[in-house]
Amino acid sequence: MPELPEVEVVRRGVAEHAIGRTVSGVEVLHPRAVRRHVPGPEDLAGRLAGRVLSAARRRGKYLWLELGGGEPRTSGGEALVVHLGMSGQLLVQPSDVPDEKHLRVRFRFADGGPELRFVDQRTFGGLHLADLVEVDGLALPEPIEHIAPDPLEESFDLDRLAERLRARRTGIKRALLDQSLVSGIGNIYADEALWRAKLHWARPTATLTRPKIRELFDGVTEVMQDALRAGGTSFDALYVNVNGESGYFDRSLAVYGQLDRPCPRCGAPIRRDPFMNRSSYTCPVCQPKPRNAHL
Ligand SMILES: [Zn+2]
Repeated sequence: MPELPEVEVVRRGVAEHAIGRTVSGVEVLHPRAVRRHVPGPEDLAGRLAGRVLSAARRRGKYLWLELGGGEPRTSGGEALVVHLGMSGQLLVQPSDVPDEKHLRVRFRFADGGPELRFVDQRTFGGLHLADLVEVDGLALPEPIEHIAPDPLEESFDLDRLAERLRARRTGIKRALLDQSLVSGIGNIYADEALWRAKLHWARPTATLTRPKIRELFDGVTEVMQDALRAGGTSFDALYVNVNGESGYFDRSLAVYGQLDRPCPRCGAPIRRDPFMNRSSYTCPVCQPKPRNAHL
């Protein structure tokens, strides 16, 4: 499942190769890829033709392309929301490159240049149009207006988040994964950041000091920036970025997926606990379980 850094890598690729171009035609090759667009594939294709892809934006793991030109149906503007799902890719390909086996949607452009292709083997991802609404001075697609800023956004307010965390009765990892508090931190980045800050996943948020919360979010930002420099993590072989290159950050993970391997800080074998139908990886020495754990 792509996480924030992978989605950011895709966003940058789309921004470089597709933004500012006018869509001449959209071909939906599999209706499941546009199932979230309730009026159907023909409506989607008709409303995109003639529009300009004017900006590529992201919040957390959500990606959308703002639409310019043509006739917007609402005053606030519209966006094409892209869900990468488990295996979705956006590829920029010259039109003479044969179709990918799992090609779902093709965008052609008025400039006759490379196509933008949405390829998705497992078809959990998809595309749909959404109205933009204003939230705290930013234009967000309506389906994500309740999603909180992510730690890499300018509008991310750590002091405000620290207040909210300290007022909650929950464990820190559960809070990190709560998209209404902070977005874009998935299981991998939560485990890596908690290890950097030497915090157990079940530590009650009410017991965290402001400096500790700042240290934790410095760790979140660092691990995401590391992943961005590496082109995103590559724990799923299906996932490749906009130009078809996969990342290699998984080689530098300290705890995630490292069961029984030595902690890079103290050498103790990494342990795995069940957590919300998934797993939490921690060092038993650096991240001891608190007595008042929120399990
Ligand atoms: Zn350790």
